[in-house]
Amino acid sequence: MRSPGLAELFITADTVPSGSTIRADVVIAGAGAAGITIARELAGTDLKVVVLESGGFEYERETQALYYGTVSGSPYDLEGSRLRFFGGTTNHWGGWVRPLDDSDFAGRDWIPGTGWPIERAELDPYYARAFEITSQLDDRNFVWEDWRTETALDVSPLIETENFTSAIYRISPVRFNDTYRPDLEAADNVTVYLRANLVDIRLDESDDVEAFGVATLQGNTFEVVGSQYVLALGAIDNARMLLRTPTVPSGPALGDHSDKLGRYFMDHIEAPVGTVVLSTDLPDVYKGGNQGLVRAALTLTPEAQQAHELGGVAFVLEEGPRWEDPNHPEELPPEVVAGVLGALQDSEPTTWVVHVRAEPQPNPASRITINGEVDALGVNTVDVHRELTAEDHARLGRAVELLASELGEQGAGWMRIDAPGLGENDSSLFYGFHHMGTTRMSVDPADGVVDPDGRVHGSDNLWVAGSSVFPSVGYANPTLTIVALALRMSDQLAAG
Ligand SMILES: Cc1cc2nc3c(=O)[nH]c(=O)nc-3n(C[C@H](O)[C@H](O)[C@H](O)COP(=O)(O)OP(=O)(O)OC[C@H]3O[C@@H](n4cnc5c(N)ncnc54)[C@H](O)[C@@H]3O)c2cc1C
Repeated sequence: MRSPGLAELFITADTVPSGSTIRADVVIAGAGAAGITIARELAGTDLKVVVLESGGFEYERETQALYYGTVSGSPYDLEGSRLRFFGGTTNHWGGWVRPLDDSDFAGRDWIPGTGWPIERAELDPYYARAFEITSQLDDRNFVWEDWRTETALDVSPLIETENFTSAIYRISPVRFNDTYRPDLEAADNVTVYLRANLVDIRLDESDDVEAFGVATLQGNTFEVVGSQYVLALGAIDNARMLLRTPTVPSGPALGDHSDKLGRYFMDHIEAPVGTVVLSTDLPDVYKGGNQGLVRAALTLTPEAQQAHELGGVAFVLEEGPRWEDPNHPEELPPEVVAGVLGALQDSEPTTWVVHVRAEPQPNPASRITINGEVDALGVNTVDVHRELTAEDHARLGRAVELLASELGEQGAGWMRIDAPGLGENDSSLFYGFHHMGTTRMSVDPADGVVDPDGRVHGSDNLWVAGSSVFPSVGYANPTLTIVALALRMSDQLAAG
């Protein structure tokens, strides 16, 4: 059954005879950031763990094609936004990590649908370990003061006001594929099936999972029967698999008891929004390339979010071109020439391009739906419909204007807003490749798909791991929180 060339506890599913039944205690579908974290945590316990991973150790076109889907609403690069092989999308992620803020968990009264049913304190112990897993960096964390006192970098805030503060990101794109493969190889109680596609969730009459049905592109089909089952397929395919699982023949899909399944699909709103000429040097900590490990962004304070009815926003500065003609009359207002550029005297100023990463409103109209087609294994494919609201646009416009005016008022520099249509439409807006929402977490089944532990409402043994459970998303990149939640889920699975 084991294929030569693969490590002992990695088995290619093509060698599993059709019709077989494999037994385990915990069955995890998907070996990306979430699935690998849970499998590693359960390694060495007395639980028998089976991981089903669609791909092998490398990119393969035929397997990636199983992720085919259509896009409606705002333009979206679905193809480039995830990878379908061992390690998942961490095979090409950027490695920016940061926890969500307290205020992200608390929610914002002025943005409907925001807030989590758990507090940040619940995740704090898991965040510390998640940081080690996602980054493998020293334990200086996200605390501005630590960086200020323990590094040669210039760590002074660019501006520090009622409205703006700065947030630390750590950056280290750990590849879960080769980094954590040895841990799973060494674990006697974990078996990873590669090229094993979850194609069917078989339910009993009380909507508990009885088996995961598996198929390979070579044509083998088999089942894995366990006590607990975890979906860790990324935010789009977690919803996709549930959407194609009726609770009773022709009943609502599993998890769709309140018409929330697949809805609230979110990605960060990202775009270059302006160009800045600063009156002083930009402190090192805001620049790329400083040891490659730490980067600061300007962020809105919780007070500013409340006062201006805004969501979470981070502004990252990237080096832009030299200002070619600082005295060009129609480009620069006279006060800039007299002020900022005067302060810079004869030196040709560097410009900084301001990139925004903003929180979208959880929007039920942004959703994943079955699109009427099937993939090569007969699994329904999905449509990804991402729709920003008029309030999203207006909030973004206000946040950018606030930054521009604050930089000027503080004498820090001059900012030209470059994004045409900002505040009105999507023409200049991109996204962060951060799929979130779709199986949102809630206390009341009427408000979401999974409970605060990540278990599908109404099912005793089906858990959902990954950012599909985020009810709202703040400005921070999602993977640290994905891993923290996966660690928490592992404790719950281990406790039985
Ligand atoms: C270009 C890019 C840059 C990014 N940069 C950052 C960043 O800087 N910081 C950050 O926090 N996040 C970043 N992300 C997002 C990050 O990669 C994801 O948040 C993270 O990988 C999600 O982890 P996951 O385990 O939920 O899903 P994935 O990592 O996508 O893993 C899902 C796994 O499920 C498997 N699978 C899917 N369907 C099936 C099936 N039917 N049966 C069996 N297996 C299946 C897939 O093969 C895959 O291995 C970036 C993403 C992209 C695309």
